[in-house]
Amino acid sequence: MRTVTSLEELKGALTDLRSGSDRIALVPTMGALHRGHEALIRHAVGPDTTVVVTCFVNPTQFGPGKDYERYPRAPEADARLAGSAGAGLLWLPRMADIYPPGEMTRVRVGPIAASMEGLHRPGHFDGVATVVIKLITAARPDLLVLGEKDWQQVVVLRQVLRDLLWPTTIGVVPVVREADGLALSSRNQYLASTERVEALALSHALAAAAEAVANGETDGATVELTMREIMAEAPSLTVEYATVAHPETLLRLVRINRPARAFVAARIGKTRLIDTRALTP
Ligand code: AMP
Repeated sequence: MRTVTSLEELKGALTDLRSGSDRIALVPTMGALHRGHEALIRHAVGPDTTVVVTCFVNPTQFGPGKDYERYPRAPEADARLAGSAGAGLLWLPRMADIYPPGEMTRVRVGPIAASMEGLHRPGHFDGVATVVIKLITAARPDLLVLGEKDWQQVVVLRQVLRDLLWPTTIGVVPVVREADGLALSSRNQYLASTERVEALALSHALAAAAEAVANGETDGATVELTMREIMAEAPSLTVEYATVAHPETLLRLVRINRPARAFVAARIGKTRLIDTRALTP
């Protein structure tokens, strides 16, 4: 696996890769890679596909506060994980290449970005859409590989690519979890041991929602309340949202009479966690 930083180096590496491979798949990440990211890379690697991984902590998708500075950075371990998962190229963009002095253009996403993550992190999806458009403009991938864990992000980016006439296909990979159910996240490493136990309330709430719906519960608000009650049992956890919504429109569902999705977000101490799960009536 080759590692590049500058746009010139990237261009050279992509020219070499394109001559030897049919397809380029891009796996955009913020680094501090774990088995969830690894699953994205392994999903895309194939005899006719070369995987390009980017690690870039994107400042425009963070709100005010310390989360951006605090976000974990582990470039050496990232290179080891990306290489062993089969990536062909690791691109570690320089800030000055993505946001050069004087740049001022942003992608502004419409109402699909207004609920859930967009409501609790104003401007977040504009930052995500802006950086992803920059990354794919530079790398021109045939395939963009994203994680189901950030389901709203997938829906938002599908909309953005469609609206901006990008033909790139999006591949979605299921949530990778710890054995006890906690969804892997680069932010899990912030959790103190008692917080780590309380963090299980998110996946437990989703499991209870899935079970209730499988057992015939069709009232969206009742399922949302079930999730809130489970998360309320964790004393240091503050729920941001517990929502049952249509998987594609992300509109809240009053009646669950077709495949739906449950979404949760919560803060534990200074750490913010999200998770999601399919609901099948
Ligand atoms: P991040 O580095 O957190 O911005 O995530 C980069 C990509 O990895 C996104 O498409 C995420 O949805 C995906 N991802 C993060 N955690 C997981 C996980 N536990 N399972 C699957 N994909 C994940």
